[in-house]
Amino acid sequence: MTEAAHHIREGDARALARAATGIENRDPQALETLRDLAPFAGHARIVGITGPPGAGKSTLVDALATAVRKQGKTLAILAVDPSSRLTGGAILGDRIRMQQHYADPGIFIRSMATRGSLGGLARATANLAQLMDAAGKDYVIVETVGVGQDEIEIAGLAQVTVVVLVPGMGDDVQAIKAGIMEIADIFVINKSDQPGATRVEQELQAMLSLEHGRQPAIVKTVATTGEGIEPLLEAIANVSPRSHSLTVSSPTIDHLGIAVKSLEESIAFYESLGFRVSHRETVSAEKVQVAMLPAGDSNIELLEPSAPGSPIEKFLAARGPGLHHIALKVPDLEASIASLQSTGARLLNAPRRGAGGHMYVFVHPASTGGVLLELIQESTN
Ligand code: ZN
Repeated sequence: MTEAAHHIREGDARALARAATGIENRDPQALETLRDLAPFAGHARIVGITGPPGAGKSTLVDALATAVRKQGKTLAILAVDPSSRLTGGAILGDRIRMQQHYADPGIFIRSMATRGSLGGLARATANLAQLMDAAGKDYVIVETVGVGQDEIEIAGLAQVTVVVLVPGMGDDVQAIKAGIMEIADIFVINKSDQPGATRVEQELQAMLSLEHGRQPAIVKTVATTGEGIEPLLEAIANVSPRSHSLTVSSPTIDHLGIAVKSLEESIAFYESLGFRVSHRETVSAEKVQVAMLPAGDSNIELLEPSAPGSPIEKFLAARGPGLHHIALKVPDLEASIASLQSTGARLLNAPRRGAGGHMYVFVHPASTGGVLLELIQESTN
């Protein structure tokens, strides 16, 4: 176990904050600390909170934080803004909160904004949630700033998703994006002391009555006074958590790449064993014809040169037909690349986008013990 991991398990708030920053920056050492801590995770309740701007989400989260602390439990608040890079606004939000919960080591607060791709932000959020869980926090609240598709996606990764609405949205209950209805475990009608609260509730009930099966709870709150916050906390505790997507997965074998002289002959051979071709294409950039044959969770990838000068043609000339490369699917390609580079491994290309839209990179056999390795970014969906 890294020293940082020890400190974090002992409740060192500064070590936790440092590791969180490291994880956001995809620092290999911080990611190693996270791997060390992973076995301690799995106890926190991870709650996503989303809803349109002006719904009072931040106030609601602060009221929840106070209620959680009153129960003697601890929490982390991750405020995620996929729509912007870290701005003064997000930092200001932090400062106001820090004043309120000043010097309370039972609350960890962090604002996160886009660092390139949504996938990157989703991964960083997942990693941070796991870190907080492993550090012993009882609740991890992932609060998204807006209500765009990206926010919905991130909030929906939590075990329990709370959608916050307010009166005076006009026909906005109808206008709320379809995706938000599907991910909600709990609807909160905040500012429920204002006129129109009953109407929002009726619209919501009418809408939900059209859905079959899952019935999300509806909780009315006034976050500024704390009204309804305890029932909300109870509702959060009562939802049976859905599969926990906010976790770090380990690498898997995506496919074995085999160089062949004739795609047709090889396909016939594998078909005789019961395999079926799921996908065929010519990748002109790599001068190769590819056939994919699913094998459980992995695939066999048959490769035939499609044009002179193809790397597969060279491989066949030098080594003859046979295993050409092994492709691993990794949860965080950027982090894998960073950690390979820190050990001096030789990459054969800058990350490239492959046929299926996935980013991939090749690692030279000299750095891997003799096998050409292809690393593929696992889908973030
Ligand atoms: Zn491949």
